[in-house]
Amino acid sequence: MNFYPQPISRLIEEFSKLPGVGPKTAQRLAFYVLNMDMSEAEKLSSAIINAKNNIKYCSVCGNLTDDDPCIICRNTSRDSNLICVVEEPKDVIAMEKTREYKGLYHVLHGVISPLGGVGPDDIRIKELLGRITPDIKEIIIATNPNVEGEATAMYIARLIKPLGVKVTRIAHGIPVGADLEYADEVTLSKALEGRREI
Ligand SMILES: [Zn+2]
Repeated sequence: MNFYPQPISRLIEEFSKLPGVGPKTAQRLAFYVLNMDMSEAEKLSSAIINAKNNIKYCSVCGNLTDDDPCIICRNTSRDSNLICVVEEPKDVIAMEKTREYKGLYHVLHGVISPLGGVGPDDIRIKELLGRITPDIKEIIIATNPNVEGEATAMYIARLIKPLGVKVTRIAHGIPVGADLEYADEVTLSKALEGRREI
């Protein structure tokens, strides 16, 4: 049963595919867009197309970037002997907001999840191993403090430690089960400070 003209129901349908957007919010967003000036609506649609066309993954760290390698990997003032391993690009943003961390990153694009059918080969672990050179002093594993994040951290630690590289895990401050993305900057910088060797 459809009460709307087709272009509106299509817009509602597209909005409702977005994460965290239920049918009511999708409807509200669709009506908001309909009330926009044409120039604003064009800016919104061109911002989406532009981001899709120009954003790619950094071939080194896997972070989102419009330039390859990304601005962090290219920054020679950062400590290239330190790599912080995170699950998703949004976690890089969370770590950067602390302004405490000056090393490089490695984005896994997921975590090992036997129940979800995600194995070690499905995330960027091979690429991480490929970045380990004798110059690397420490790998900080900042996966989320939940079951899958912990399992992934342990898996990576077991692979890297035999290579003679120090592996640490951020620990204190992040509540168990919480996502890095939602930790405030102070909590996250304390967690980074309080990392322990694993
Ligand atoms: Zn990069």
